[in-house]
Amino acid sequence: MSLGSHNTTQYSLCPPGRRRTQSRTTDIAAAIPFRRALEFSYGVCDTLSPLIRRVIAENPGPFTFHGTGTYIVGRGEVAVIDAGPDLESHVAALKRELEGETVSHLLVTHTHLDHSPAVRHLKEASGAKTYGFGPHGGGGGDEVEAGADRDFMPDVTLGDGDVIEGAGWTLEALHTPGHTSNHLCFALHEENALFSGDHVMGWSTTVVSPPDGDMADYMASLARLSLRPETVFWPTHGPAIDAPGEFTSALIDHRGAREAEIAECLEDGLTRIPDMVRRMYADVDPVLHGAAARSVLAHLIHMVRTGRAACTGAPSGAGEFTPPAD
Ligand SMILES: [Zn+2]
Repeated sequence: MSLGSHNTTQYSLCPPGRRRTQSRTTDIAAAIPFRRALEFSYGVCDTLSPLIRRVIAENPGPFTFHGTGTYIVGRGEVAVIDAGPDLESHVAALKRELEGETVSHLLVTHTHLDHSPAVRHLKEASGAKTYGFGPHGGGGGDEVEAGADRDFMPDVTLGDGDVIEGAGWTLEALHTPGHTSNHLCFALHEENALFSGDHVMGWSTTVVSPPDGDMADYMASLARLSLRPETVFWPTHGPAIDAPGEFTSALIDHRGAREAEIAECLEDGLTRIPDMVRRMYADVDPVLHGAAARSVLAHLIHMVRTGRAACTGAPSGAGEFTPPAD
């Protein structure tokens, strides 16, 4: 099925070009130069560059855009990044494309159900080892996205800076916690490109859902990526991001503006997260308000820790928040 070019702004936590009249802060949504135009067909492998191919799984949704993009790196001897969801049609498409090639590495950016489960089928078919930071971090917080894949255990654990190589390609793992505690990005040295997983996506902001999602970690990982030398990021969902430094800096500014908005809510006497979400996300599809509430909680935990908000008891979704005591 050919899908042509799509635009699903209703699925973003941050629709482009919409001004937030409720907030005194800024029109924070408009500041992110989102990229959403994408031409593809499910089950068809697209060649994106000399070393990069992609097959998109048919698992569209509020957190996956059109679906999970599985990347194949190299020719002849290849690595696969994020085999994707356990979806027969997707696994079949990948196997078709990998016919006659040697799969040397099966890489996983993080353990969400739309990223890692299909890797076991490719492992069975190819005998290649799986690589990732580690099993899912646990602690919950996964109910708002695709959910956690608690079955995945990498054969080989990768830490920050670890390098793997194949015929004509070199991938360097970067530990970028925040979306999940075990999130990795992969830099492809030969093309000055970086596979950014769910950490930086062109089509939408990233869900940060505590406790496995952590806003301080996420911001630190963003700051790190904003300084990377790569000229293109390939996210798991959506099209490539050119000028990634500029784009990542816009994401950092966006999060700062969100925290300023939350501080305004606190000043205005809004103490509960659902009330803040109703104000700050008034122009976002209510189907996403649950995810928005998790992001607001992630910000508030960060703000309490850094003395910019107060909470009676441990911060939680049901907590009561106030401005910091002077
Ligand atoms: Zn994810």
